Amino acid sequence: MHYYSTSNRELKSTLKEAVLRGLAPDRGLYMPSSVPVLDRKTMEGFRNMELPAIAVTLSNALFGSDIPESELTRLTEEAINFDTPLVQVDEGLYALELFHGPTLAFKDVGARFLARLLAYFTRALDEDIHVLVATSGDTGSAVANGFLDVEGIKVHVLYPSGGVTPLQEKQFTTLGSNITALEVNGSFDDCQRLVKECFMDEELGGQMKLTSANSINLARFLPQAFYYFRAWAQLEPGTKAFFSVPSGNYGNMTAGLVAREMGLPVHTFLSVNNLNKVVASYLLTGKYSPRPSIPTIANAMDVGDPSNFDRILDLFDHQHERITRHLHGYSYTDKEIREVIAEVYREKGYLCDPHGATGYRAAQTYRKEHPELTGIFLETAHPAKFIEHVEGVIGTAMELPERLAAFADREKQAVFIQPDYKEFKEYLLNRI
Ligand SMILES: *Cc1c(COP(=O)(O)O)cnc(C)c1O
Repeated sequence: MHYYSTSNRELKSTLKEAVLRGLAPDRGLYMPSSVPVLDRKTMEGFRNMELPAIAVTLSNALFGSDIPESELTRLTEEAINFDTPLVQVDEGLYALELFHGPTLAFKDVGARFLARLLAYFTRALDEDIHVLVATSGDTGSAVANGFLDVEGIKVHVLYPSGGVTPLQEKQFTTLGSNITALEVNGSFDDCQRLVKECFMDEELGGQMKLTSANSINLARFLPQAFYYFRAWAQLEPGTKAFFSVPSGNYGNMTAGLVAREMGLPVHTFLSVNNLNKVVASYLLTGKYSPRPSIPTIANAMDVGDPSNFDRILDLFDHQHERITRHLHGYSYTDKEIREVIAEVYREKGYLCDPHGATGYRAAQTYRKEHPELTGIFLETAHPAKFIEHVEGVIGTAMELPERLAAFADREKQAVFIQPDYKEFKEYLLNRI
C-alpha cells in the first residue's frame, strides 16, 4: 500500500518511509492511499474476540502488504496486549474504556504499536533514530514507556513547564535509559512548534535521523482504529451507534473515521472539545481559526491548532458540508466538566476522568435528540491520572492504581530549555 501527502496526493511513499519520516517532505500528513474494506464474515468474527486478536486481523489488513505476516502478528501482539472493554454507564450509553494499558491512557495503543513498527524498520540501520515528541500530558508517558529500552531509538520528550500534572510528569521524566525529558519554559504549542521546526530544518535532517511520535505519525493514529471495531463487537447485533470522542489533536477521531471507511457501521461522530474549541467553531462556521491553547483540567485536549485536522479535511475533500454530516461539535468549560464528573459518580456510580467527562456529556446530549441510538463515549484515561481534579470534585479520596503509584516515588530528571529553536537544535546535535 502507498501513503500520500495531504498537501499533494501525487506525492507517494511506502509505509517504511512514512513511518520513518513522520511528516511528508512537503510538510503534509501521510494518509493511506486506500483502506481495506472488511467483509461481513470478518466483522462477525470480531464478536468473539478481545482487542489483541482484533488488532492482529486489522493490522494484517492494513499493513500486511508491507510486512511479513509472522513479523506483523508478533509485533502487534506485543504492542496491543490489553483489552478495551465497553462498560454500560446509563441506558443506551456506554464508556469504551481505553485505559487498560501500561500508562492507563488510550495513547498506549498507538505509541506501543509505533515503537515496535519503527524498531522493525530500523533494525538494520547502524545509526540511532531520534524520536521527537511534544506532549501536553499523556502522549509523553505513553510514548516514553512504549519506546523504553527499544534498541537503536532515542526519545526526546518536550513538555510545557507546569503544564502537565505532577503524576504525568513523573511518568516520562523518571525513566532514564533511552528517554530524555525536556522541560520547556513555554506552552504546549511552543513544544509542538519546536518539533515541527526540526522537521523543516534540512541541515539538521542531514545530520541525524529524526522522526515524530506525535499523532502526525500514521503508525500512531491508524492502530487506534482497532478499538472502534472492538467497541462495535461488544454491542448487541444490529445496534445503531455513535461515538463521542474527547479530542485534542484529533488523532483519535481520524482513526474512527478511517474505521468507518473500513466498513465499521457508525451513525455519527461527536467531536468534543474543552474550551479549546477551534474545531467546534469550524463545524459551526466553516472557518478554521487556530488559536493559542488555553489551559483546562482536561489538559490532553488543550490544543489550539490540532495537528490531524488536515487529515479530516482530506478525508472529506475539504468540503465543510460533508464534514458536518459526519461530525457534530460540542465544547465544555472546566465548570461543566466538574459537574459531569460529580453527577455521573453520584447518580450512575461511574467515575469519569475530565476528558471522558466531556465525551459523556456530549453523548448524553445527543442521545436526548436521538433516543433510538446507542452512544459510546471514549474514556481516554483512567480517572486516577487526574486525581488532583477528580478527588476534589467527588469529595472522596482515591486510591492510586499500583502502576501509577510506582512512578510517584521516582526522581524527576529533565533538561530545562527556553522555547527557542536554536537552543533546542544545539541540544539535539550534542546528542548524536
Ligand atoms: C491525547 C488525549 C486526548 C485527545 O486525543 P487526540 O487524539 O489528540 O484528539 C483525550 N484524552 C486524553 C486522556 C488524552 O491523553
